[in-house]
Amino acid sequence: MRILVVEDDADLNRQLVDTLIDAGYAVDTAIDGEEGHFLGDTEPYDAVVLDIGLPEMDGITVLENWRKEGRNMPVLMLTARDRWSDKVAGIDAGADDYVAKPFHTEEVLARLRALIRRAAGHASSEITIGDVILDTKQSRVTYEGKPVKLTSHEFRLLSYLMHHQGEVVSRTELIEHLYDQDFDKDSNTIEVFIGRLRKKLYSDIVETVRGLGYRA
Ligand code: CA
Repeated sequence: MRILVVEDDADLNRQLVDTLIDAGYAVDTAIDGEEGHFLGDTEPYDAVVLDIGLPEMDGITVLENWRKEGRNMPVLMLTARDRWSDKVAGIDAGADDYVAKPFHTEEVLARLRALIRRAAGHASSEITIGDVILDTKQSRVTYEGKPVKLTSHEFRLLSYLMHHQGEVVSRTELIEHLYDQDFDKDSNTIEVFIGRLRKKLYSDIVETVRGLGYRA
């Protein structure tokens, strides 16, 4: 699961990025609207946190351009408190949800989780496949009720596959949603992660679809 944060306030940006990384996401970041727009237009994100007031290109314009270009990832807008007109403009531009500043990062996390789940068609915060349960709230996985210790990459991989349950996901797609843009991407690592997941979950929850990818 990979998220883009577009926020020009350096402290707030850092705070959001740290919180999201702690919660197990791969995170890319931009500090102005133009860079943010470019990243959202060229990289696949599972969700975006987008500030409204940005240098170079404001958040509303960034979002309008994405939607015009057919980029339909969930977008959570950050608005100034009491600026109801911002909220209306954000929603009209195609925002899926908003949080007013100042906010608790926990609220941003909860709203993002909900957006990502909804985009994948899951209403509940837990996703279950057989004996494996992914708790998106706690960023936790259990097998037969017992917690399974996963590295952040293993967790992201399993989380992506479980959110897209029943779909065949290619290796390239997995890599794109597993790593941030600065990471040296090696598609062979996916196979290694899948092998470890199967071992740790004592199950073949992830099926290899020869020549195409993987399916949970
Ligand atoms: Ca701002």
